[in-house]
Amino acid sequence: NTLPVGKPKWLRVKLPIGQKYTELRGLVDKYKLNTICTSGSCPNMGECWGEGTATFMILGNICTRSCGFCGVKTGRPETVDWDEPEKVARSIKIMNIKHAVITSVDRDDLKDGGSIIWIETIKAIRRMNPNTTLETLIPDFQGIERNIDRIVEANPEVVSHNVETVRRLTREVRIQAKYDRSLEVLKYLKEQGINRTKSGIMLGLGELEEEVFQTMQDLRNANVDIVTIGQYLQPSKKHLPVKEFITPEQFAKYEKFGLELGFRHVESGPLVRSSYKAQKHIL
Ligand code: SF4
Ligand code: SF4
Repeated sequence: NTLPVGKPKWLRVKLPIGQKYTELRGLVDKYKLNTICTSGSCPNMGECWGEGTATFMILGNICTRSCGFCGVKTGRPETVDWDEPEKVARSIKIMNIKHAVITSVDRDDLKDGGSIIWIETIKAIRRMNPNTTLETLIPDFQGIERNIDRIVEANPEVVSHNVETVRRLTREVRIQAKYDRSLEVLKYLKEQGINRTKSGIMLGLGELEEEVFQTMQDLRNANVDIVTIGQYLQPSKKHLPVKEFITPEQFAKYEKFGLELGFRHVESGPLVRSSYKAQKHIL
């Protein structure tokens, strides 16, 4: 039972640096803008930023949950910053972002689960950036409909919620979450009339091929339109280990299977992140 040593060659990529990337990087540093792309040192920055896509995290940077794969800090979050919606909207304007992905930490400490800041952020973005399209990558809001409904009312072009892994590994990977609750949230979003719903999983945590197929089938049964499948990478030694590096060929197999199942888009590859090529998903 040997653990993989070193990254395979398909994960060793160079950041493509274009003019647009350099320009945005300058703005981010100058105005101290907070993007997931920079804080997670995402390998896709050159590509995404070149196309005018970036991901922003709201509701602070301390999460009430402690998923075994996630690099975000766990603990008691700071008090809610009511200026945050304006700050995010302004960042999007300064960076001239065409397609913004908004995500948040989980705020199980708040009665509204953070949904009021969510809606205020969406409104502020729309007000300041009328031509920017939006994907909201939301928490499960513990399945509480009145909180999810706030997102639904704002009607972003894409609403996503990640199941992250297969059913069997959910307890280990996302201890406070439930596989079925996530599926229910996704199904509910679609029933409420959200145009595009989306979910993502990471591979390399010890899941079997047939379990990945089953998860894709479960997402399709919940009427999910778009699925992303990428390689899990360990953020630090304290996080879950990588059990396996999935080959590009295997990712291609999942993509083919997903398209056969009827997903509108399938992004499947070693470097795929939930927000990778997100601007394509509004089509
Ligand atoms: Fe940012 Fe997501 Fe693109 Fe990475 S994949 S650069 S986090 S938008
Ligand atoms: Fe990370 Fe989200 Fe889990 Fe919080 S709920 S630990 S932000 S994956």
